[in-house]
Amino acid sequence: MHTARTFAAKEQRRHPTLLHLLKHLLMRLLITLVALFYAVFPLRSQHQEEHGTCGYTGISPWIDWYQRNGTLFEAAEDGDTAWLYVPVTLHLVGTSNGTGHFPLEQAITALCWTNHLFEEARIRFYLMPTDPVRYYNNSSWYDHDFSGGFNMLNTVVPSLRNRLNIFVVGNPAGNCGYAWMDAVVMRNSCSGPDNITWAHEIGHHFSLPHTFSGWEGFDWNYSQPAPPTISGWAVEKTDASNCYSAGDGFCDTPPDYLNYRWPCDAAGLSTVPQKDPDGVTFHSDGSLIMSYAFDRCSGRFSPEQIAAMRANLQTEHKSYLQINTSMPELPDDAQVELVSPLDSTQFVQYNHIELKWKKVPGARYYVVEISRTPTFSQRFYSETFVDADHAVVTKTLPNNWTLFWRVRAYSDWDLCQPHDQAQVGSFRTQNLSATNELERRVAFMLKPNPATAAHPAQWVAQVENAMTVALTLHDAAGRLCWQDEVRLYPGENTIALPTAQLAAGIYTLGVRNELGLAVRRLVVAE
Ligand SMILES: [Zn+2]
Repeated sequence: MHTARTFAAKEQRRHPTLLHLLKHLLMRLLITLVALFYAVFPLRSQHQEEHGTCGYTGISPWIDWYQRNGTLFEAAEDGDTAWLYVPVTLHLVGTSNGTGHFPLEQAITALCWTNHLFEEARIRFYLMPTDPVRYYNNSSWYDHDFSGGFNMLNTVVPSLRNRLNIFVVGNPAGNCGYAWMDAVVMRNSCSGPDNITWAHEIGHHFSLPHTFSGWEGFDWNYSQPAPPTISGWAVEKTDASNCYSAGDGFCDTPPDYLNYRWPCDAAGLSTVPQKDPDGVTFHSDGSLIMSYAFDRCSGRFSPEQIAAMRANLQTEHKSYLQINTSMPELPDDAQVELVSPLDSTQFVQYNHIELKWKKVPGARYYVVEISRTPTFSQRFYSETFVDADHAVVTKTLPNNWTLFWRVRAYSDWDLCQPHDQAQVGSFRTQNLSATNELERRVAFMLKPNPATAAHPAQWVAQVENAMTVALTLHDAAGRLCWQDEVRLYPGENTIALPTAQLAAGIYTLGVRNELGLAVRRLVVAE
């Protein structure tokens, strides 16, 4: 797959008149490759789903060339301590009806952690200021097989070559992520804090093979001595005699044959012993990001892997290197100053809350959170706003509660901000339009309204303290059609109304107890 991609990029530049023919050929080649992929690894998707693996096989032509010509880079490496800055565009893909987008806040956190993992490589990622994030509503991209992935990447990436394109989707062909067609594609559920999947796929993007290169998708009884070759590829021995021509082609990544997600012991080694072709027993090194060790085991690239990634960035991905000095950081103690509401003496309408804060100089992204507790352990609401100093929250929050809120600031450059510095504000939710105590204490709505026979109405009520209410349903002529007494418990209560039995028309729902009376109009449609 990498072969096809590199071929296309080079040939299109050299022979623009052949572009059309080449595109056609490339399309056919890729379709064949996709078909071959399934033919060769028919059980692969299932296997990957189960273990959350990465869907990358093989050695790219670039790394093959690099490893054959490593001496070209040796001189440069010695004094090569400059930071390399990589612009990123995030592509957050949701379903066709606009749901499921990976939250921008979490993508920023994932990049923050990725920067930490690339620190030793002196590679730093930042959001491309002119094009930081794009959103898509496309179910066949959100949950895709490889042909859907091809369609997505082929539609978006060719015109965006001068930055690292990171896609986050719901299901990238059964994998946790993959690097293909000069982009990386991540699964939303493999993109949480402390996840190394982003660093792993970006490692592939910058040419790195797996440490167990050649063993991908190969079933093997590890108690047996390994064969001298696997998938036509030399098997790396423990004595380092063939380390530059076998496995991943690096000598500072020891042999590793484990092609499934594996746990490590206290020393960070695999619990499963393996035998090299000479019958020598060894355990795999779980600290390497390019292995399949569990995320908690891994966190580093080897010096030779780092040199290869830097060389790749300076040649194949040279177009990424647009700046060579860092941009200003936000101060770590930068607090977003809250304007209003500040404390729980302030009452706000529970389903329409305006939050105001002061912008931080240099910041661009503001993550707003609302929680029941000042530690924000359980969040009712979080959303990222760009260049904003206020937000209107229309999501229905619990009524009659004291809630806490905070705002954290990020910039395109500074993607890590400590949480513990944030100023915390609070407010008390209430139904300010209430005309009596019952209306104030109970937040409720009817849905759907109009109701139909197929979709009967439900009364959804939120209360802080338990109470009993009498419900009545009257028709337009004032006749009582239904009544019931229900007990409401703290939190959200859902009560089904018998609208399926009612004739089409306009009805009045009455809610009554010692605190007062509330009425709502309910429409029953054909
Ligand atoms: Zn991988």
